[in-house]
Amino acid sequence: MSEPVYTFKLIVIGPAAVGKSSLIRRFVENKFSLHYKFTIGVDFMTKTLDYEPGKSAKLTLWDIGGQERFKVLRRSFYEGTNGALVVFDLSRANTFTKMKEWLSDARQSIERDFPVIIIGNKSDLIPEIGEIIDRKEPLQFAQAENCIYIETSAKTGDNVDNAFLDLTRKMVDKFS
Ligand code: GDP
Ligand code: MG
Repeated sequence: MSEPVYTFKLIVIGPAAVGKSSLIRRFVENKFSLHYKFTIGVDFMTKTLDYEPGKSAKLTLWDIGGQERFKVLRRSFYEGTNGALVVFDLSRANTFTKMKEWLSDARQSIERDFPVIIIGNKSDLIPEIGEIIDRKEPLQFAQAENCIYIETSAKTGDNVDNAFLDLTRKMVDKFS
């Protein structure tokens, strides 16, 4: 593997239990568990990703837990962010509304502009439970926010690598 040229801080934000930790775990370790493990404080993992043949970036993936209400923790969490995955849960409509608050809070807390990808996670549940959220809504929202919308499943792994790859390419474009 080639030497990483860039180091990026990537944050994964959104309401509780939408699958933030699961997406990171799927991406970094290619593992998944249905057993819910509450994230305590802030957690982070690193992964070097080949975003193009012969070109790699080192990602530090920041995962926030239920303590996001503590302002001090939040400030250090957001500091130096290069890009964000903003996640909601396709099986719970209220997470779509809450996800928007997370995005606007992040935009207010982070001084520079940064690329964002909106993630509708748990796409594997849709065949079972049907479409809870009209897909036009996240698509329109992402368009208005000038970002892209991707549906993922941390459970099956569907689109997870694509989401991280797309965001990494956008960070390379923006910060190189
Ligand atoms: P977080 O609070 O946002 O970090 O959410 P977690 O990653 O801890 O996941 C919350 C719960 O949803 C756990 O029980 C996970 O196993 C489950 N989960 C996460 N991603 C998926 C997914 O893509 N599909 C399904 N069916 N369950 C998921
Ligand atoms: Mg978590």
